[in-house]
Amino acid sequence: MKKIILLLVDSLMPSILEDCMRQKTVPALQFLKDRGRYWSNCVTVFPTMTASVDSSLLTGVYPDVHRVPGLVWYNPEEKAIINYLNGWKCVRKLGLSACAQNVLYNLNEKHLSKEITTLFEELECRGKTSASINTIIHRGNKKHRVQLPFLMNLATGFRLHGDISGPDVLTLGAMVQTNVKQRIPSVIQGCRRRYGINDKYAVHVAKQLIQSNSQPDFMLVYLPDNDHEIHIKGPIHAEESLIRVDQHIQEILNVFDSWDDALNQCVFIVTSDHGQTHIGKEEEFNIDLDKLLESFRVLQLGEDVNDHDLVVCNNERMAYIYPLKPDKQPQILRHLLSEARMDLIAWKEDRGVSVREGGSGRAVYFEPGGSNIDIYGTTWNITGEWATLDVKFNEGILHYGDYPDVLSRLYGALYSQDIPVIVVTARPRYEFKSRLYPVHLNGGSHGSLHKYDSTIPLIITGTEHRINEPPRLIDLKSFIINIFENFSK
Ligand SMILES: [Zn+2]
Repeated sequence: MKKIILLLVDSLMPSILEDCMRQKTVPALQFLKDRGRYWSNCVTVFPTMTASVDSSLLTGVYPDVHRVPGLVWYNPEEKAIINYLNGWKCVRKLGLSACAQNVLYNLNEKHLSKEITTLFEELECRGKTSASINTIIHRGNKKHRVQLPFLMNLATGFRLHGDISGPDVLTLGAMVQTNVKQRIPSVIQGCRRRYGINDKYAVHVAKQLIQSNSQPDFMLVYLPDNDHEIHIKGPIHAEESLIRVDQHIQEILNVFDSWDDALNQCVFIVTSDHGQTHIGKEEEFNIDLDKLLESFRVLQLGEDVNDHDLVVCNNERMAYIYPLKPDKQPQILRHLLSEARMDLIAWKEDRGVSVREGGSGRAVYFEPGGSNIDIYGTTWNITGEWATLDVKFNEGILHYGDYPDVLSRLYGALYSQDIPVIVVTARPRYEFKSRLYPVHLNGGSHGSLHKYDSTIPLIITGTEHRINEPPRLIDLKSFIINIFENFSK
């Protein structure tokens, strides 16, 4: 029976992948594509940020069901901003210990809804073993002990209460490494190497599991380096980092007797969590939310909620804006609508979503149900100017343009929480700026609904098993379960 290896390459984009293939610089990815199936139009989750995306990858549902709104969001129960470690300066202001507690424990054990199962939990029910190598979503039925490296312990003063859960094998760099048989070289897990949350570490663990005959039935390997490089250099210069990713994939294939043998033994799935958009060079390409909303009492990082009007949670090219006083919402919306660099401004209304386009003010409203069926088979009722969301009717079916699967994805984000919230996205080339949050002028950024951030490649090799088309990231959970169920028939 074949095993499955899912390689999740952060910020892998179809256009860059195809450029590299034309230039013959990525032989491993080329091999997997040539020997399998390839889609350049797979759609990821909104916000296009790792925390919300990985939650959807492993649960097969959008945030309205799994309840992880994004990388940064406001938790009304704790009256606190939740930040799963984005931007060193904000993390320091919010308290490293609180952020570490959130990303290492609360994300999986509290925030991710218990109403829905993870892929790891489903596989265990079917008697299949799994490994999660450095993925932040890893909820499973086994308990694992977190051991912070000495320096990190000193910096955070962090004491985790209780173990974290995961599949049979779980690594989170130097912080968690269970059922990994041999010692991992310290050079790939030091503080300069992000404590082991890097490609070298992940590939090292994957190779070790294969070589020691302890490869689990399903292995999810997260490769983050590509994202860091593209944030700095921008997507225009993304080939070099993808060539390095390919070398890592070659290393995994080389562990087998031959690359053909690798395909005889395993199904390979390669995909991404989101794309990136090039951000302009000049200061004007940062939309300063502190400035735009300066006439309101905005909760600042590190402050306790008091008499504030609103909370801003910046997710790079998208932001959640939470009006704390309901009567202030129309006034806040007026301010946001006045900003022409804003792409879309959306909020909950009745049982649906109202959307305005920044600058032009074009408006549309949509809600689930109704008579319009989209290419994914979901039905909608839509009123107003459809062009706001670039949706069109073609032979009786709704098709998406610049904003792939926008109706389900925008609905999913807004209804991930039961409190009033406004979603804003930045136009291409722009990103949001908030005090202490990272910005990427002349580099790359993501978070929005736009196709640049939202379209990801998908390669499936070693199985002819059917997947929904056009594919979405949320389809992979059931696809993987189905492959195993088919094997056992
Ligand atoms: Zn990123």
